[in-house]
Amino acid sequence: MAIMRCKTHTPKRAQRNCVAAVEPVGYPETALVCGSTSCEAPAFIWLEDHEKVAFDRGQRIFKSFTATMKVRAA
Ligand SMILES: [Zn+2]
Repeated sequence: MAIMRCKTHTPKRAQRNCVAAVEPVGYPETALVCGSTSCEAPAFIWLEDHEKVAFDRGQRIFKSFTATMKVRAA
C-alpha cells in the first residue's frame, strides 16, 4: 500500500518496500501533503513494486497504507 511523503521524508524500508515515487495530480499544487509529523510539503505517492507495475499499466488510484484515504496519480 502506498505512502504519501515528500522527497525529504522518504519512507523507511522497514515500513514499506517502496520502489518508486510518482506525482499526484496537480503536483506541486496538490492536495496531497507529506505524512511526516510537522511537515507540510507537497507529497509524492510512494509505491510498492506491485503498485509500480500497476502504475505502468495505467492504474492511477492507489490505497494508502492506513486505508484512511485514496489518491489519484498524474
Ligand atoms: Zn515531508
